[in-house]
Amino acid sequence: MSSADVLHRLVGMTQALASPVEDLVILAEGNTSAAVGEGAFWVKASGCSMVGIQPSQFVLLDRDALCAAISGPTLNDGEARALLNGSRVDPECPEVPSTEALMHAWLLSLPGVGYVGHTHPTPLLGLLCVESARRWAGERLFPDEVVCCGPRSCFVDYVAPGFPLAVAIATAVTTFREDVGIVPKTLWLANHGLIALGATPEEVLSASRMTVKAARARVAALAAGEPVRALTAAEIDFIYRWPDEHFRQQRLFGR
Ligand SMILES: [Zn+2]
Repeated sequence: MSSADVLHRLVGMTQALASPVEDLVILAEGNTSAAVGEGAFWVKASGCSMVGIQPSQFVLLDRDALCAAISGPTLNDGEARALLNGSRVDPECPEVPSTEALMHAWLLSLPGVGYVGHTHPTPLLGLLCVESARRWAGERLFPDEVVCCGPRSCFVDYVAPGFPLAVAIATAVTTFREDVGIVPKTLWLANHGLIALGATPEEVLSASRMTVKAARARVAALAAGEPVRALTAAEIDFIYRWPDEHFRQQRLFGR
């Protein structure tokens, strides 16, 4: 797929995520990205609103230099900004990349990940401000949450945005892959928001929307005042490995 085609799909995904009915972002919240081949990626420009975003508000960056920086010495804000601006494929580009481009670079290097959507969904954000959020990230309440969001979410403790967040995400996802054996579809960032990963824009949209639905379901279940029954590990595993579900995932996500 050409760089222009990837950008076209990324713009559509970003506008869909930003729709007010989704309640995922307001103002300049959130950012999105998409891989172009092996070594480059498009990412939202700094300070832009995702609502009505245009192709000119994305920046094409060189991925390898940013990925390498995450495993290197700690960068302060000024050093991280210089690295981000210097990694633009077109140095004359009038836009500068989002501060979160570092985490996007690393996430897009994971197998099977072509698109990344980072949002601050209100129903999930409320749950992410509760001490039990880490435990809830490992639970699933209903089958479609397993299908769209994966068998569990990768939980990331709160750190400041920018370079510290990119390092914390790399560490948490690496541990998740060792423990669970797969790349997560969704990451829950404590006191912050959601990251959805997908091979296609449809996969990112489905994971984001279903995360919001699951968060609303959990709030409703908690409000009932009775103990919440989450799916058991065996029930989750059955859904995750069920051949019919794989067929459904292909239909849903265009994989
Ligand atoms: Zn954020």
